[in-house]
Order: sequence, then C-alpha cells, then structure tokens
Amino acid sequence: MIRVEKARRIILNSIKPLQCEYARTKDGLDRIVASDVKAKVMLPPFDNSAMDGYALKAVDTKLVSGARPRIFKVVEDLPAGYSPKRRVNGGEATRIMTGAPLPAGADSVVMVEYTKKQGSSRGRVKDSVEVYARVKRGENVRRRGEDVKRGQEVLSKGSVLRPQEIGMLAALGMKSVKVARKPRVGILATGDELVGLAAKLTKGKIRNSNSFIISAQTAKCGGLAIDLGIARDTRDKVRKKIASGLKKRLDMLLVIGGISVGDYDLVKDVLLELGMRMKFWKVAQRPGKPLAFGVIKGIPVFGLPGNPVSSTISFEEYVRPSLLKMQGAKDLFRPGLWALMMEDFHKKEGLRYFVRAKISQKDGRFYCIPTGPQGSGIIKSLILADGIIVAPEEIKTIKKGQRVYVQLLRHGYDGGAI
Ligand code: AMP
Ligand code: MG
Repeated sequence: MIRVEKARRIILNSIKPLQCEYARTKDGLDRIVASDVKAKVMLPPFDNSAMDGYALKAVDTKLVSGARPRIFKVVEDLPAGYSPKRRVNGGEATRIMTGAPLPAGADSVVMVEYTKKQGSSRGRVKDSVEVYARVKRGENVRRRGEDVKRGQEVLSKGSVLRPQEIGMLAALGMKSVKVARKPRVGILATGDELVGLAAKLTKGKIRNSNSFIISAQTAKCGGLAIDLGIARDTRDKVRKKIASGLKKRLDMLLVIGGISVGDYDLVKDVLLELGMRMKFWKVAQRPGKPLAFGVIKGIPVFGLPGNPVSSTISFEEYVRPSLLKMQGAKDLFRPGLWALMMEDFHKKEGLRYFVRAKISQKDGRFYCIPTGPQGSGIIKSLILADGIIVAPEEIKTIKKGQRVYVQLLRHGYDGGAI
C-alpha cells in the first residue's frame, strides 16, 4: 500500500502529452490552449466613446460648470458602427453613442446626462447642445489598444478556455484556436449485478451508475468518454471487453470495479494477463483503497474501485489531474481553502481520508461539515458536497474548530457571496 502523494507521482510521471489540433473558437469551451496566443490586432481597434454623449475638445469646457453652461454646435450625429465624416472644431460637438469612433478633432466625450439638447422646437439654435460639465482630455474615451496591444500575449499555453477566453478570441477575430486533442477515455464497468437504464431491475441487480458518473467527470475535464459497456464477472468476459476496448485508439482506460480482494475481483489478473505493467495496487486512503494503476501498450490504465463514491473520488484525485496533464494544462488540481471543522471527525490512522463536506461562511471565516454518512456507497454524500476535506494520514481525530484543507468541487457554496 502506497501513500497518496506517491500514487499521484507515479501516475503523473506516466502521463504523456497528447498532440494538438485546431478547435473552432465557438467549440473551444473547456479545451486547453496548446500554444501561447498573441494578438494580431489592437483592441479596441479605434478610439471610441465609452458613453452616450457629445464628443468635443476638452479645452472648450474649461470654464463650464452647472451654473455656467456653454452651447456647442452639433456637427454630426454618430451612432455606433459608423465612421465620422466631420471634424470637430472649437466650439463644436458630435452627438456620439457608446462604441462609435471618436471623430477627428475631438479628444473627449461629455456624458449626455450633463447636456441639454437645444431643439428647434424651442425656436432656439438648431442642432446645438448645452453642456453643463467640464471634461478632462481623454475623458470617456476608450483608446485604441487600451485593452490589448498588437503582439501582446492574451492566452498562455496550458490555460483553460473559459467563456471569457472564448470571447477574447472572438474579439480578436480568431475563428480557431490551437488546443490539445481530446483524450479518448475508455470506460468499462464490471459486475454481474449491473444493468443499464433500459433493462428491468430484477432481484439482486442494481443500475450501472458509475459509468454515468465517470463519463460525466471525463467530459468535465475535456475528455471524450467511450463507453465500453458492462463486463460480466468472468475472466473471459472481462478479457474480451478490455481487449476490444484497447482497439479503440484509447488514450486512457478506466475499468470500474472488480479490483478488490473478493472472489470475483478478476480485473487485476486479466489486466496483467493482457500485458499491463502494474505500477501499484492499493493506496493508503479512504475511500478508494484498492485503486490500481498500470500501463498497457503505453496506455495508462486505472482500476477504479467499484463503490460509486470510491470511483468518483479516485477519478477526482487521480484521473482528473492525469487527463488535464495529457492536455498540457497548467493547473492540474482544484482550488481549495482552509476551513474550520464544525464537528469532531474520527478516522483510522494511516489512511488519508477524502471527506465529502458542506462549506459555509460566517463572519469572514469558512466552515465545513461532513455531508452525513460517509460510506463508499452513499452517492448522496457526493451530491451534498461543496468540497472534499483532505484529512491527513497521521491524525486520528479532527477536533471541532480545527483548521482543515478543503478541495473545492463547486463555487457558490452555502453561505452566500464572498
Ligand atoms: P466491486 O469493486 O466490483 O467489488 O464493487 C464494489 C461495490 O460497488 C459493489 O457493491 C458493486 O455492486 C458496486 N459497483 C460496482 N460497479 C458499479 C457500477 N458500475 N455502478 C454502480 N455500482 C457499482
Ligand atoms: Mg464487482
């Protein structure tokens, strides 16, 4: 039995980066950028107005105040999307909308809120505006290149494409982006007791839920889940399913269940028969002690323990970082925080515990509490979890009020906004 860190080190050392490909910008969400992206254009591409108002020369407003308005001649009406035709000279202004290019001669924009239109309806000067506030040079103007300069790095290799990165690529006019190829992940469930969703549930059978969780987890970290079905608990059936799975150009194979010490736990033997170089079996942790890892024909293979919580947590702690590393991601691990335990927690010494927990916040402090029963078959413990408390091997009790590290599974946990 090896320690968590060692297991992680062995696994990550066996993971090789995948080739890259181009993804369309609109399909790029959650993909990992494969090389630094530099802007080929300026953002914004031209000086433009940050407000609806009047573009003019700041110097012309020098003596202007609420009590001392000044009338400007309006020389042009400029909505966003059009190019100015008129120059703004002293004493003149262009009516300008947010995003419209700043006309030549103007250097600032006075907000519409500080102006009063002089309409012909009142029989006064036609097409002029009364300005009630002073503006500084450059006020309410968005400068060409103030967001991004040509040649500037906007995305770095190994970063994840979030919605905002997709938006940046679009703003730069980039139709595609170089990303890591999606890892192809074969997922095989094992067990005579398992049936799919279409089958009738007869006595002794349960639904194959793990394949669903693991497929979804795979998709969440950029992988392409390839369902290899359910293998019955015979050597022959397991061997056949694994062998046919290995023909599917897999980048990783996940076999669920059958990896423990029960009479029908054949997966390890079959994998060895098929030529797997076993790197380890059993990790000093709960849940997920019987985790196995090895390599067949260069393909990393995980034997995930069958209990739903064990397989989910094993994926979270080992498979997810591996898939991210394959894709060249910079950040392999989830963010975490330190929180105060809300109740005593007892554990076995020598094992690292991954405790599903709810997180809350009060008076500027984070608190956490286990999500009730922590049995490895309690799927609900995962549903309720905002995070995973990492309880160290050496300790037997976490006391109420003690500080613990919690990996975050979701943001916006109970307790409201930060
Ligand atoms: P095993 O590791 O095969 O001994 O399985 C341990 C426990 O997890 C047993 O109760 C199994 O019924 C259950 N289990 C194994 N595989 C799955 C699966 N794919 N979906 C749901 N439960 C499973
Ligand atoms: Mg089984």
